[in-house]
Amino acid sequence: DIESLSDLERLSVIGHGNGGTVYKVRNRKSSSVYALKVLRFDQNTAIRHQAACEAEILKRVDSQFVVKCFAVFDTIGGELCFVMEHMERGSLYDELRVRANLPEDVISGIARSVLRGLQYLHGMQIVHGDIKPSNLLINGKGEVKIADFGVSKIVVGTRNAYDTFMGTCAYMSPERVDPERWNGGNADGFVGDIWSLGVVVLECCVGRYPLIGFGEKPDWAALMCAICSGERPQMPETVSPYFRSFVRRCLEKDWRNRGTVDELLHHPFVNGTFELR
Ligand code: ATP
Ligand code: MG
Repeated sequence: DIESLSDLERLSVIGHGNGGTVYKVRNRKSSSVYALKVLRFDQNTAIRHQAACEAEILKRVDSQFVVKCFAVFDTIGGELCFVMEHMERGSLYDELRVRANLPEDVISGIARSVLRGLQYLHGMQIVHGDIKPSNLLINGKGEVKIADFGVSKIVVGTRNAYDTFMGTCAYMSPERVDPERWNGGNADGFVGDIWSLGVVVLECCVGRYPLIGFGEKPDWAALMCAICSGERPQMPETVSPYFRSFVRRCLEKDWRNRGTVDELLHHPFVNGTFELR
């Protein structure tokens, strides 16, 4: 029902990301509320064209576990505008800032939702490639959905390049960080999304980025070392063996041994067969 950008009234700024700003908007006709993501581009028309193509894919994506994109508009100023489902409670990143760490039953629910979202995307041959707390959004009902695949990776950065680089690399799998050592046999990218999910659920449990120790300087070398060679990080004594085993299946360094979406959806940590405290 949204025919043009002028149908939308901008209510407030929700947040800023790499290359764009997200606004809360209202459709003047129906008064429905949406999130509007505005991405700016350099003159590079090839990148722009690629983004526009990905935007078309985005409009076909329809899952209750993936943030819905209702429309995409080009502006004369060279921006690309995505009209998205508004997720009232913001991102898991925001949630972790407020709540430090989350109880196991909540993490189990998050993991299940992300796996269902990945199952849908992977089924459409879409690799997300950027699973991290700020790309997992929460609506007013507390439902978690995946946002931002493809398009977010190819826009020009406006934020501090170092922060963006580190922020994105922190959740990358060994085979992406160090392909020479870990990508024998050529991973297809789907396995990388599982690794990232493992880092995210572990972060929810320990309350901070889990692969680098306290006080360690988070530079690229330390990060790469932690991802590719580091021991599996410690989890608190109090977590269930199911949670421990789930994280182990996700954070398997050799992607050929890592859990797949379908396997992990049957894992007792997420399949609801055991009672969480
Ligand atoms: P990146 O550019 O790497 O994706 P990011 O995820 O922080 O980084 P954006 O995707 O631009 O940046 O999002 C900025 C913020 O806006 C997010 O942190 C999130 O809290 C909020 N946001 C994004 N999309 C929505 C949405 N559909 N509904 C509600 N809030 C959203
Ligand atoms: Mg994002």
